[in-house]
Amino acid sequence: MSRRRACPRCKTPIAGYVDQCPSCGLDKPVALPWHVYPVMAAILAAAIWLLLDLDEIARALQTFRGG
Ligand SMILES: [Zn+2]
Repeated sequence: MSRRRACPRCKTPIAGYVDQCPSCGLDKPVALPWHVYPVMAAILAAAIWLLLDLDEIARALQTFRGG
């Protein structure tokens, strides 16, 4: 029932996902859940798509003004 994890080095209980163990400073003592990676990839893809799209719109506006 309990989803509490412990630091693999010092065995301090860790709640949630932290960058460093509050007790011994171990880097990323608990692994991120697998679904974090596809979500991050989707956000990155959306950001890239948006940037490309804005660039295309800017180019279209320039063509319109120039013509
Ligand atoms: Zn620790």
